Amino acid sequence: MTYDVQSIRQDFPILGRRVYDKPLVYFDNGATTQKPRCVVDAMTEEYYNVNANVHRGVHFLSQRATDLHEQSRETVRRFLNARSTTEIIFTRGTTESINLVTSCFGEGCMQEGDEVIVSQMEHHSNIVSWQLLQARKGIVIKVIPISDEGELLMEEYEKLFTEKTRIVSVTHVSNVLGTVNPAKDIVRIAHEHGVPILIDGAQSTPHFKVDVQDLDCDFYAFSGHKIYGPTGIGVLYGKEAWLDRIPPYMGGGEMIRTVSFEKTTFNDLPYKFEAGTPDYVATTGLAKALEYVTHLGMEHIEAHERELTRYALEQMRQIEGMHIYGHASDGGDAVISFNVGHIHHLDLGTLLDRLGIAIRTGHHCAEPLIHRLGIEGTCRASFGLYNTKEEVDLLCQGIERVRKMF
Ligand code: PMP
Repeated sequence: MTYDVQSIRQDFPILGRRVYDKPLVYFDNGATTQKPRCVVDAMTEEYYNVNANVHRGVHFLSQRATDLHEQSRETVRRFLNARSTTEIIFTRGTTESINLVTSCFGEGCMQEGDEVIVSQMEHHSNIVSWQLLQARKGIVIKVIPISDEGELLMEEYEKLFTEKTRIVSVTHVSNVLGTVNPAKDIVRIAHEHGVPILIDGAQSTPHFKVDVQDLDCDFYAFSGHKIYGPTGIGVLYGKEAWLDRIPPYMGGGEMIRTVSFEKTTFNDLPYKFEAGTPDYVATTGLAKALEYVTHLGMEHIEAHERELTRYALEQMRQIEGMHIYGHASDGGDAVISFNVGHIHHLDLGTLLDRLGIAIRTGHHCAEPLIHRLGIEGTCRASFGLYNTKEEVDLLCQGIERVRKMF
């Protein structure tokens, strides 16, 4: 299949709109992606023709809605190549998936003084959730340092393990630098120390094929809205052995088998972790999005975005005063963080917006990383499967224009 980006763009109605009477250039895909028509249509169709609560009713609509919901779980299983749908838990997103692990693993498997290893390049969701556990239980957070080029120092990682290490929790891809961490090595080293590992896949799943069995990770988290699916839905993959071992997350309907005031027993996996009515329409939308990217081919999406990133780096590096963070080695993901001369990132972002170019500015929910880089923030252009070299040219022309104003 040839990758025809212009025809792919037709699937995303919003890309045709104008902003301040300029064609929209949407380079904030790291924050959230736009939705193809098939995702919105599938959700509309479910609301118009199927809607009923899942897993509860004996009636036609409830059974149809339940079928759709469980088929979506199977689509996620296939997408991640998980062994079984019992290992796929629906959550509200990466943040909730991580908090589920910190709460349940923290509750079931960690004591005061026990240690978690995270990295310097984590998103706040993978820092603050552990800090909350630290406040509750007195656990210790250890941090893998990074090089000036924004790569994990693997030999330092190995040195952090002690007999108190209980879990490792690191991101697959940095949402600021685009660094793709050597996830397989990180997992292997954790396992050599007999420690399970959670991987934050918020910025990996939209860009390249992820296979949880091949990675051999114990938990993997991602968000639907960053992979062309709806907001408010995400996934936690967990190996069955761990999910069986750790206590439930929230209490309520659906996660129980029997309830009495004396004793309550919990439901089978994955329902033990899914209290309350799930967002079953969003799971349909998520499944559509995963089918959409699978149909395009994750390998084609990856190749397209790698080429776009390579082109963008080449063009951007020609701009006077340009400072690009990370991307020291080839193979960085479709995220470029930069500053230009002494222009404040907020000013640059605001002026680019007036040209119809949407980028992100600030600390990108990764303040410890930004501090490590010795700066206050960056501009971030993050690409999606529908972006083009012409749009990169518009970005570079826009930056030049702003630069000349300062
Ligand atoms: N981790 C990373 C690496 C992210 O980029 C993000 C989103 N910026 C998150 C976690 C949190 O994702 P969400 O807001 O969808 O829960």
